[in-house]
Amino acid sequence: MQHTDVNTLGEFGLIEHLTRDFPLRQPSTLKGVGDDAAVIDNGPFCTVVSTDMLVEGIHFDLAYVPLKHLGYKSVVVNLSDIYAMNAFPRQITVSIAMSNRFSVEALEELYAGIRAACDAYNVDLVGGDTCSSPKGLTISITAVGQCEKELLTYRNGARPGDLICITGDLGAAYLGLQLLEREKRIWQENPGVQPDLENQKYAVGRQLKPEARRDMIEAFRKNELKPTAMIDVSDGLASDLFHICKQSGTGALVEESGVPIHPDTQMLALKFKLDPITCALNGGEDYELLFTIDPNDAEKVKYLPDIYIAGEILDAKDGIKLNTKGGNLHELKAQGWVHF
Ligand code: ADP
Ligand code: MG
Repeated sequence: MQHTDVNTLGEFGLIEHLTRDFPLRQPSTLKGVGDDAAVIDNGPFCTVVSTDMLVEGIHFDLAYVPLKHLGYKSVVVNLSDIYAMNAFPRQITVSIAMSNRFSVEALEELYAGIRAACDAYNVDLVGGDTCSSPKGLTISITAVGQCEKELLTYRNGARPGDLICITGDLGAAYLGLQLLEREKRIWQENPGVQPDLENQKYAVGRQLKPEARRDMIEAFRKNELKPTAMIDVSDGLASDLFHICKQSGTGALVEESGVPIHPDTQMLALKFKLDPITCALNGGEDYELLFTIDPNDAEKVKYLPDIYIAGEILDAKDGIKLNTKGGNLHELKAQGWVHF
């Protein structure tokens, strides 16, 4: 057997490579691999399914992530993928693999967070699996949601002329992580020192306790707005916009001045000598929604709070570009992860 390093393909290349020889056989499989969630036709409604895995040491660090927050976030990131299909989550399953370092009390904390998310988002925990593992903690959550077929919103529906919209604000979760990582390093070198989070409640909160944009999907329904394409911002604006453009066969132009960034994020970025727009483009874990709308729906969006129009979908030949505040055009690239 040859040994090809998975890093030669990158995350998205690897998924494509492994799943390319799986033709969809079932007429009820409306969407397989490649979107925020799979879609199964179930008569009047469609079932939407999404899975995410979180591995200790890769996705979370228990040095600064309380188990309760971890449980909450593990659920929320999955629900976010269901909302990104314009669907509502209904059930979750939770599977855990853990070493004997975790006590019953510790796992109760994790489940207190999972319960809080079930309460907040009105979903039922309906199953899962539990096993031991030689090291660390791994959490895999599957979320199941529901949507009328004609309201489902895929990554591939953007058309040239559509407006690019972003909810909330971007970049804060990444900076929250930088702050927590910095304090961890200081603490490791000098265990007597108390962490100084500089009262950066906003960024730390965005990292440790993200929320999914259920309110936006509810607002879309109320205002009879259906985005043409949608994705949740989990990997950063650049990467997630790239997915929409690639699958829609389009290009895009984003205005730096249109990308929402919280004032606390701006200030914190400067402290870390980072450009705030770089944090928004490449940071990730914001769990906001990135979607496109028909320009005729611009009026509807204008009256909805917390939605920002940040650019326009272009022809594929125009590429995916950022127009900076200084008036320079930059090519945007999808990053994803590049190494294990
Ligand atoms: P997201 O960031 O929205 O969670 P991912 O980038 O993890 O999406 O996954 C992209 C697509 O690839 C999804 O449709 C997902 O179900 C699919 N996928 C990811 N890993 C695998 C795998 N190992 N086998 C089959 N499909 C996968
Ligand atoms: Mg997603």
